[in-house]
Amino acid sequence: MHNSLSCAACGKSHEIDRLQNLCTDCGKPLLVGYDLEQLKPTFTPEVIWSRRTRSMWRFLEVMPVADESEVVSLGEGQTPLLRCRPDGAFDGFTHLWVKDESFNPTGSFKARGMSAAVTRARALGATSVALPSAGNAAGAATYYAAAAGLDCVLFMPDDTPPSNIIESAVGGARVHLVNGLIGDCGKLVGAGRERFGWFDLSTLKEPFRIEGKKTMGYELAFDLAEASSDGTLQLPDVIFYPTGGGTGLIGMWKAFDEMEQLGWIGPARPRMVVVQAEHCAPVVRAFEAGAESAELFENARTVASGLRVPAAIGDFLMLRVLSESHGTAVSVSDDALLEGVREMAGGQGLFLCPEAGAVWAAAKQLRESGWLGAEERIVLFNTGSGLKYNHLSPPGDLPQLDHTDPDCLEVL
Ligand SMILES: *Cc1c(COP(=O)(O)O)cnc(C)c1O
Repeated sequence: MHNSLSCAACGKSHEIDRLQNLCTDCGKPLLVGYDLEQLKPTFTPEVIWSRRTRSMWRFLEVMPVADESEVVSLGEGQTPLLRCRPDGAFDGFTHLWVKDESFNPTGSFKARGMSAAVTRARALGATSVALPSAGNAAGAATYYAAAAGLDCVLFMPDDTPPSNIIESAVGGARVHLVNGLIGDCGKLVGAGRERFGWFDLSTLKEPFRIEGKKTMGYELAFDLAEASSDGTLQLPDVIFYPTGGGTGLIGMWKAFDEMEQLGWIGPARPRMVVVQAEHCAPVVRAFEAGAESAELFENARTVASGLRVPAAIGDFLMLRVLSESHGTAVSVSDDALLEGVREMAGGQGLFLCPEAGAVWAAAKQLRESGWLGAEERIVLFNTGSGLKYNHLSPPGDLPQLDHTDPDCLEVL
């Protein structure tokens, strides 16, 4: 394997075949590099089209593995890109797609990252993994660790949605509930790491979750080729991403760069849109201030647990993507994102997670302001299944029928 590992901030290179977390010099995230020049002659789109692998691992050459036999897969990736009908609330969006990540194992795109990270952790000798999570990362880590035969140790805020806690406990993770926020949980992982020999799988604190998430960028080019008349790889004009730690945003941007170096696509790029919740919008605030990094967002709160990240270690990378892509950053209220979920459900037949409800609400805002044109090709990410958030949408009082009463249908 000719892959390399270097710091995204200071550029210092690190040995790739060793378990490690952040840059030993500056404490920032590490990113994987590939010898794309060497791959170029033989690693082509035709090779990908001809593969039968039904997972994100069909992009094996640009994934951090020495050998395919190392891969820990549950069938992640290869999710559908669904076209929205332009009527009702969707009038004015003629080319709108949803990349539906709810099809992933454990019901969210966290599966992609964990498949890559757990694959790599096991190959490099880890026997147990640990992470803080207030949502879908917990379930994904649990099930990939189970598939790999690793121990999984979780620290979850005690107000984490019950579905996330239950699936992790059923999957055999050692779940600890904590009377604090995700940052407090992260500190416990840091404190126990050396003592108990855990490998830390926190967002962007190890270099491989992002490699899994970047496959969304590769897939988009192939999905849109299938949807186009000439079948060539292509990217949309705009991508909306519900942003917490930002791994998918940073990962897709990396994928586009790799594809250009491979000669698969040209220099054109989508405008990337960061979407956050009104009361937890550190990246939006930093973007609006023209800053290069984000400050901690005090008293962060939102029902969209994937967006509840008041401070992200990859903040400077997200802000760089926004600037390079001529993108923007938008926040929406909890009411607006839940309304977005209802609109997509009734209007398009998709039960989005609230994070993705936010993305649809943001798209409407930007269409109204004129930032989005009517003819633009737009992709929204549905990062997880709405079913994990049933607690947010109680159905209210439903009519109760007595089937022995011949008049019971009179209530209709
Ligand atoms: C984790 C998560 C996000 C945020 O993803 P990042 O890559 O950390 O920004 C968005 N939506 C859902 C459903 C999530 O679980």
